[in-house]
Amino acid sequence: MSCLFCKIVSGEIPAKSVYEDADVFAFADINPQAPVHVLVIPRKHVASLAEAVDDAALLGTLMAAAGRIAAENGLAKGYRTVINTGADGGQTVEHLHVHLLGGRAMHWPPG
Ligand code: 5GP
Ligand code: ZN
Repeated sequence: MSCLFCKIVSGEIPAKSVYEDADVFAFADINPQAPVHVLVIPRKHVASLAEAVDDAALLGTLMAAAGRIAAENGLAKGYRTVINTGADGGQTVEHLHVHLLGGRAMHWPPG
């Protein structure tokens, strides 16, 4: 498996772990766009949201984990969750991931 995030899940590529359970792995983004920037991913390989539409349980688990991580990291004033999908969505790593961004006020609309 040549997937970068699968290698992070397996430990082949190091990352700063933030949260782990049976289904979810979360780690600090290597190029943070906010004081808190965590990537929340499924342990199993799913390429993108487009490939996950039949797995509502997995998507719910991911979003619930993102909310839990936000609370555990002191983001009481709020935060942003983002899923980039495909070329137009700006997805650069083809393993489904939720960006959790916080620690500063976010802007809208995104680029
Ligand atoms: P995307 O652009 O696909 O939505 O987000 C991919 C994210 O993965 C980017 O924010 C990028 O900084 C992050 N990223 C890319 N390579 C690595 C890596 O090797 N380690 C970590 N921790 N993050 C990475
Ligand atoms: Zn993968």
